[in-house]
Amino acid sequence: MCFTTHVTSTADSFAAPSGSSGAGELLQLMLDGTPRTRAELIRMTGLARSTVGARVDALMAAGLLAPSGEAASTGGRPPARLAFNPDAAVVIGADLGATHALVALTDLRGRVLAEKALRLDISAGPQPVLDRVARAGRTLLSAAGRSRDELAGVGIGLPGPVEHSTGRPVLPPIMPGWDHYDVPGHLSTALGGPVLVDNDVNLMALGEHATVYPDVQHLVFVKVATGIGAGIISGGRLHRGAQGAAGDLGHVAALHGGDTPCTCGNVGCLEAVASGPAVVRALRERGTDAGDSRGLIRLAKQGDLAAAAAVREAGREIGYVLATCVSLFNPSVIAVGGLLAQSAESLLAGIREVVYGRSLPLATGELQIVASRTGGHAGVVGAATMVIQHVLSVDQVEHQLAATATG
Ligand SMILES: [Zn+2]
Repeated sequence: MCFTTHVTSTADSFAAPSGSSGAGELLQLMLDGTPRTRAELIRMTGLARSTVGARVDALMAAGLLAPSGEAASTGGRPPARLAFNPDAAVVIGADLGATHALVALTDLRGRVLAEKALRLDISAGPQPVLDRVARAGRTLLSAAGRSRDELAGVGIGLPGPVEHSTGRPVLPPIMPGWDHYDVPGHLSTALGGPVLVDNDVNLMALGEHATVYPDVQHLVFVKVATGIGAGIISGGRLHRGAQGAAGDLGHVAALHGGDTPCTCGNVGCLEAVASGPAVVRALRERGTDAGDSRGLIRLAKQGDLAAAAAVREAGREIGYVLATCVSLFNPSVIAVGGLLAQSAESLLAGIREVVYGRSLPLATGELQIVASRTGGHAGVVGAATMVIQHVLSVDQVEHQLAATATG
């Protein structure tokens, strides 16, 4: 199935010709991966045999459904079973940080087939950075023996605020030259589309949720690194808010923020007192020079009491802000990722101390506050998941089938 020619938004609606019409709905039933016979699909949908037959045929012709063994026979020839085919196409997911990027090739279930880590400087500007991401994507495609026609789409996470509807960064503090840059346009020319862009933390939330907590409805993913941010899964879906700025906790006022200057121009922000660089600075003022955030993690892991105490203190500051989030949003999981989460016990201890102490029992009774379990992969898996949810949505599937049917 060729996915490369359409760059459309999920808001579009399409009139599909009869035959493929309704196939998008049928596919949604099959995305759980369970193999089913045509008879089972007729029972599940209550639709006529001919209707189900036409939809199944359209999805099989597109490669989205494939034969998957035979069901138990009730006498005579056993009925063939069909299943969603995650190998019908591939997706490229990219997660960009300030000094590094991870680019991955996945199947339509978000399983990483191959990946490539890059060292880069995001402040070099969009053109050189996106060209390198595109080159890495092309290398992964050809190494896997897949063509650009088989690319369903590209998802990319950026370390700054992104207007999701346009895919453009908006005044990103650590990304000079990127403001309102047409990231989707650049990458769809270089690789193929559709190209979807989001804030890196939103995608980490999506990746952690899809990989580790698929059945959890309400989850907050907090990234604590050079910056601090959160991604919110609400009702099983990513909650971006009106402009895509939901979860931007780094510049919320910290309880003990005082007049500490922040990179955003304001004072007393959470990021100014509890991010990696902020903790390194606080520790230096007390006579311990950790160098940078990695040095800080090393010290804390070696059992340096001052470093562990400083990280725990940062955890408490983050905890005060998260306690408000818990009261407002009542999540059942808070997953903490990012570089500082590598000294997980001190950071989590600080966060737990305040969140459990400051929230009512009903909100914390079932609440887990845990370290991220996807390691460094949450961002790329989330980027791929964003694309997969888009291209396998009812509207997009019907649009693709209609386009194929009309040539
Ligand atoms: Zn700030």
